[in-house]
Amino acid sequence: MEGSLTARDRVGIQDFVLLDAYTSETAFMDNLRKRFNENLIYTYIGTLLVSVNPYKELGIYTKKQMDIYMGVNFFELPPHIFALADNVYRTMISETNNHFILISGESGAGKTEASKKVLQFYAVCCPSTRLLDNVRDRLLLSNPVLEAFGNAKTLKNDNSSQFGKYMDIQFDHQGAAVGGHILSYLLEKSRVVHQNHGERNFHIFYQLVEGGEDELLRWLGLERNCQKYRYLIQGECAKVSSINDKSDWKTVQKALTIIEFSEKDIEHLFAIIASVLHLGNVHFEASAHGYATLNSSAELLGIPSNILQEGLTHRKIEAKAEEVLSPFTAEHAKYARDALAKAIYGRTFTWLVNKINESLVNKDSTRKTVIGLLDIYGFEVFDVNSFEQFCINFCNEKLQQLFIQLTLKSEQEEYEMEGIEWEPVPYFNNKIICDLVEEKHRGIISILVHVIKSHLLFLNFRHKLADQKTRKTLERGDFRLLHYAGEVTYSVVGFIDKNNDLLYRNIKEVRGFATVCILSWPDITEKIIDINSKIVATQFKSSLAGLTEILMTKDPWYVRCLKPNHCKQPDRFDDVMVRHQVKYLGLMEHLRVRRAGFAYRRRYEIFLKRYKALCPDTWPHWKGTPAEGVQRLIKHLGYKPDEYKMGRTKIFIRHPRTLFATEDAFEI
Ligand code: ATP
Ligand code: MG
Repeated sequence: MEGSLTARDRVGIQDFVLLDAYTSETAFMDNLRKRFNENLIYTYIGTLLVSVNPYKELGIYTKKQMDIYMGVNFFELPPHIFALADNVYRTMISETNNHFILISGESGAGKTEASKKVLQFYAVCCPSTRLLDNVRDRLLLSNPVLEAFGNAKTLKNDNSSQFGKYMDIQFDHQGAAVGGHILSYLLEKSRVVHQNHGERNFHIFYQLVEGGEDELLRWLGLERNCQKYRYLIQGECAKVSSINDKSDWKTVQKALTIIEFSEKDIEHLFAIIASVLHLGNVHFEASAHGYATLNSSAELLGIPSNILQEGLTHRKIEAKAEEVLSPFTAEHAKYARDALAKAIYGRTFTWLVNKINESLVNKDSTRKTVIGLLDIYGFEVFDVNSFEQFCINFCNEKLQQLFIQLTLKSEQEEYEMEGIEWEPVPYFNNKIICDLVEEKHRGIISILVHVIKSHLLFLNFRHKLADQKTRKTLERGDFRLLHYAGEVTYSVVGFIDKNNDLLYRNIKEVRGFATVCILSWPDITEKIIDINSKIVATQFKSSLAGLTEILMTKDPWYVRCLKPNHCKQPDRFDDVMVRHQVKYLGLMEHLRVRRAGFAYRRRYEIFLKRYKALCPDTWPHWKGTPAEGVQRLIKHLGYKPDEYKMGRTKIFIRHPRTLFATEDAFEI
């Protein structure tokens, strides 16, 4: 156990709240490192779970481990993701309310693995029936499908999620998982047509080429050789030792069947994936071979090839009442080809998420409670930061705002209301940064939309962006934001291009010809003529507003994932790198709040009702006020003065273990 002094010296403390020098970042780092060296990757800050990616199998996610953690008080066992999952679940059942678990951290820190562990825990530990087994399997199997289509090998992570994911798991009143719903955010589609050195396209392409059955490949006109496809080889690493595309293909096939994709759906899905590969090989120096692949692509999409060819090589201009075709340059044609490939892929991904959601719909309309799982990229700072980082960091800024509202602000307000003496924790309210980005008319996104609409150069608007004091000089085309996690300089190069989801008009018409159901599937945004709906930043802003709304009504739980080194290696703890993340994830701030605060609070009536049997003065009936009854009760139980505080309507208990001891007193 971790109780004795020597053990404590060796393995550190399992809750940072109990650190003596709790405000010292050095003490924090020491504790984290100590535990990591002992393969103890989890540590709490109160109920927040800090996790450090071990980059090796620790054998701590077995069924046996799940059984150990199931139904046991949070602080009684060593910290674990299962303990958190169990605690959230039991709180949801006992309080019949909704919760979410926010899992954040940088690329490769272990967010997706953590979210999978939570889901697996519920799949194994929740009550089930044969009927519900279906739902459970689909919930679990949605992961390999979405990962195949939405994850890719990057320099930072061999299985990097290229989209943000929020998943609701719905439970009935008996605690059985009865349904689910997935929302996806900002799929990074540019990867379909371009990959940096050492990176790959989305897994599914390689899985199809490596694992697809001979007959299927023949039908799709594909060769079993990734090197043949331009869209697969720009990163020069089609093969990755940690990935087995062949067996992953089999897993995905099985998952698709269990999620009840029809044979036709699956056929169309892979026709589209293949058509994208063929499109990538189209070149416009008008050689017969270049167009041959265009024919394959057209055929698979069900588009007449002359129409696809015309769409990719000509612009339709309306002159007076006539339509005139004007040829593109080869450069333009390539741009049109890539834009079409990205659009097709993006749409297919949205279709996929929708199909999965259809299969997860809970047909029973009885009251449900929900646990939401949010696996979303953490704050990002690179040497050059572009539109993607802007969106990701804005998203984190919004989540920080939510944390402030749900945790910091409400906590401090409650102490004030209850007349509890406490030292306010100073925190930076990042609302001004959120406003700076999203405010109507004056915010960065509004300006961006305005610029795109009026086809002006975003660069010229730079001075409007932020009148913040800056230390370093800005290059032309840069702007800087002082995020809660630190300052970031963004380069506006590509901001307009990356925002424009509009295809050339005639390419859109081309898509209208497609007979493949996925592409002709109605898209609500298309009905909105307003150009706003086509600007990525606007879409993102409104989907974040939607997410905030979903989360606001739920109780928050946090998992903060840390990446120990850049080399994806076990047993390496890079101090500088981890310290950085501790800062960006706001862990010290969180610790200060937790430490200053009280873990538990209960209304006097409820506390008394629950525990009055433990004291002869209050049992069976207490005649005085509930507050006096609680006073009598805790005096009898021997609470020490620094363990609790009495508010106007509630008792506040500093450490959960005080409450656990009281619970245990029932058994004595
Ligand atoms: P991204 O933002 O790029 O999607 P991520 O935070 O989701 O990154 P993961 O894909 O979850 O990162 O983790 C990266 C890799 O680290 C995993 O593929 C796995 O090899 C390893 N890993 C993560 N968590 C654990 C763990 N708890 N135990 C063992 N290995 C882990
Ligand atoms: Mg991930």
